[in-house]
Amino acid sequence: MNIVCANCFTTNRIPDDKDYNNGKCGKCQQAVYSSTPVALGNNTFYPFIERNTLPVIVDFWASWCGPCQNMAPIYNKVAESSPTLLFAKVNTEQVQQIAADANIRSLPTLVFFHQGEEVDRVSGGLNEMQMKQWLVQCVQKMKNT
Ligand SMILES: [Zn+2]
Repeated sequence: MNIVCANCFTTNRIPDDKDYNNGKCGKCQQAVYSSTPVALGNNTFYPFIERNTLPVIVDFWASWCGPCQNMAPIYNKVAESSPTLLFAKVNTEQVQQIAADANIRSLPTLVFFHQGEEVDRVSGGLNEMQMKQWLVQCVQKMKNT
């Protein structure tokens, strides 16, 4: 499988029998996998959502958005406990073009991508249970398409 390094964004090919959660990047030697959400920018957003074999969830947020602030620790916690999913964040104030391309109309919005294709999205603050239920639904939907 392919995994995009959370540190330098180089695509690493990891043999299926190797544990990607503990893999090191061939280029920068840092951990390829991050259990905390990876901040994406203009140059890293598309490579990250398209080249990863694993699904990528992106949290579109802004510093002025109260519900975004409330949801951030929940998002971090769910990321930590979901080793088969990759979690990322886009600061919509800094990365406006990506937010526009993704047609983000309200914050926070979570978008579930699988190899560059949007599987589903949800807007508004979620609690931990709601977030986990949504992720289960997304994985199911992804497997059915
Ligand atoms: Zn790297």
